[in-house]
Amino acid sequence: MPAQLIDGTLLSQQLRADVAKRAAALTARGKQPGLAVILVGDNPASTVYVRNKVKACSDNGLHSVLEKYDAELSEADLLARIDALNNDPTIHGILIQLPLPAHINATKVIEAIAAEKDVDGFHISNAGLLMTGQPLFRPCTPYGVMKMLESIDYPIRGAHAVVVGASNIVGKPQAMLLLQAGATVTICNSKTRDLAHHTKQADILVVATGKANLVTADMIKPGAVVIDVGMNRNQEGKLCGDVDFANAKEVASHITPVPGGVGPMTITMLLVNTIEAAERM
Ligand code: NAP
Repeated sequence: MPAQLIDGTLLSQQLRADVAKRAAALTARGKQPGLAVILVGDNPASTVYVRNKVKACSDNGLHSVLEKYDAELSEADLLARIDALNNDPTIHGILIQLPLPAHINATKVIEAIAAEKDVDGFHISNAGLLMTGQPLFRPCTPYGVMKMLESIDYPIRGAHAVVVGASNIVGKPQAMLLLQAGATVTICNSKTRDLAHHTKQADILVVATGKANLVTADMIKPGAVVIDVGMNRNQEGKLCGDVDFANAKEVASHITPVPGGVGPMTITMLLVNTIEAAERM
């Protein structure tokens, strides 16, 4: 029997209805939640991402400010803007769209964001809080994946979760969230020997590598939940994930599509984090 789809678009709509309600309640108390998005340069993918983030804010009752700078902006000027936003009471979340131009030190810039406004959850102190089981902000993509597992009532406690990919923004925080939810977690990276040996043991398989079709049906345990974070373009230029969806869906019990899976959840969880930030201030 083909796997049940975990529909990120539908789940996002449900979560955004709650976001809009919470935003309206805050606004009624004179504290409309506000997100500042900073884009440096004109990377086409980044331009689309920031446009979608700003639109999601206005669609759901959040205030947003989009600051666009040309690629020559100096690091000092960017740090000065962040400092101003840190002290702006109408702004509760600050997001720097990555990647930044090579002459800007991204780590230094992320560390300059006030930790309580770091809605991406990338600041070192937020990474540390997550690692020690006291998260202030959960990075948006892994947070969205946890909501997807919650939406199917998956019993994470005691399950074996395998995360393929170990980046600071997806794989590592994903592994931490699964561990905190009681899973036994394996993290794989590009040096992992015999990737299939690990993936075949997964009750929950999260794939975030940026390698189209890396995970094929024969690498999946029958009945596993498969979450595909990857966003790639195939040879025809169509969006696809890291999992061979057409065949994997015949083996998995639940699976996320690309597009329409994790992607919409990431922006939704950015809204949730901004609301949470505003509610705390
Ligand atoms: P990244 O920083 O490039 O990290 C990729 C990770 O995958 C690294 O840890 C790398 O291992 C590992 N990897 C690469 N090839 C592998 C292989 N053959 N076997 C096992 N592991 C392998 O990428 P990212 O930022 O985490 O993003 C991953 C994917 O998710 C991309 O397609 C990205 O576009 C997508 N993404 C989607 C969303 C969304 O909202 N849907 C959000 C964020 C990212 P090493 O550590 O050894 O290099």
